[in-house]
Amino acid sequence: MNVLVINCGSSSLKYQVINSDSEEVLAKGICERIGIDGRLVYKPEGGEKEITEAAMPTHTEAVRMVLDALVNPKTGVLKSLDEIEAVGHRLVHGGEKFASSTVITEEVIKAVEECSELAPLHNPANLIGVRACQEVLGKDIPMVGVFDTAFHQTMPEEAYMYGIPYKYYEQYKVRKYGFHGTSHSYVSKRACEMLGKNYEDMKVIVCHLGNGASICAVKNGKSIDTSMGLSPLEGLTMGTRSGDIDPSAVEYIAKKENLDFDGVMNILNKESGVYGLSGLSSDFRDLELAEEKGDERSKMARAVFCYRAAKYIGSYITAMNGVDVICFTAGVGENDWGIREGICEYFGYMGIEMDKELNKKVRGIEVTLSTPESKIPVLMVPTNEELAICRETVALVK
Ligand code: ADP
Repeated sequence: MNVLVINCGSSSLKYQVINSDSEEVLAKGICERIGIDGRLVYKPEGGEKEITEAAMPTHTEAVRMVLDALVNPKTGVLKSLDEIEAVGHRLVHGGEKFASSTVITEEVIKAVEECSELAPLHNPANLIGVRACQEVLGKDIPMVGVFDTAFHQTMPEEAYMYGIPYKYYEQYKVRKYGFHGTSHSYVSKRACEMLGKNYEDMKVIVCHLGNGASICAVKNGKSIDTSMGLSPLEGLTMGTRSGDIDPSAVEYIAKKENLDFDGVMNILNKESGVYGLSGLSSDFRDLELAEEKGDERSKMARAVFCYRAAKYIGSYITAMNGVDVICFTAGVGENDWGIREGICEYFGYMGIEMDKELNKKVRGIEVTLSTPESKIPVLMVPTNEELAICRETVALVK
């Protein structure tokens, strides 16, 4: 079965067509600058990347252009659109309503709209992608929504409740939800497969370290805690997000700088993290280069990032009463050996030992990074959220 996987943002739309039998990616790309001017990037499997500048006033035109490219007689990978049998959509926030992926119906769309208050930047954009696909492909094609939050719905109350008046949970559903669930689920499962262990018997810690970053404790195949919260702002020090911070600092900065909520939230989301600390960049490649040249603040930013990540890992070892494997994934986790080494050094006390030479050499592959003597294996497992969405879609529409 060919599945079109869509990850729709407010001005961009990432897509892949995956054959679910071979799990091969037939084509992939992105529509950017939707509603501004418009740019389609299209890459067929084994072929050259094509970039087309064309007006994309709305997401509907973007979807149309993607489909035209897929059936283009010269560079397309499909003979006709009938060869797309299902669409899988990444949906960000499913609140408490969705503990698993779901076939998209009008009721589901309504329920996702109701969760939009919790994810005002993401959910409306995701739904625009759903509507655009319905418009262009017709309402009969089966569509599945795969939520970033769903995997974490297994967290126990003691992990997801905040220490604030209970009425805010009752009235407004203020609690920890967690994100990157599709990635945490895929990577934790894959790590157990790599080790030849039974997923349901394992205690896994997944470090999804990208521009947005979160850590998850997966016990017996279920998420029991994760570092992101009501929104993706909680937890680790990220590319541009602050992560955990004393709420009083928010009030203090707002007063000093004469900012309203939007102003101060913008600083915490877009001007903080390693970018804010270094004053240089949110990209770990830039920080690594700067650190090599002796830039002290870049060094400090990377050290803060490692320390915070290590604290979360330590707390999740306690939460699970142990750990059987630690995994690194996503842009930083799959590429930045210094960050992986910096984090793992904190766990020397419990016998974790990295193969430092190997760790320095490898990027973006499935590999064991620890020595055979290490008490706990440390793995790199490249994430593949699109494939996970494709699998979920097939499971629900077959
Ligand atoms: P997101 O999906 O949250 O945008 P990604 O998982 O794609 O993030 O990660 C992007 C980040 O990965 C970049 O901002 C950069 O910091 C980091 N990154 C990518 N490639 C490298 C590399 N070669 N070395 C170090 N860091 C890298």
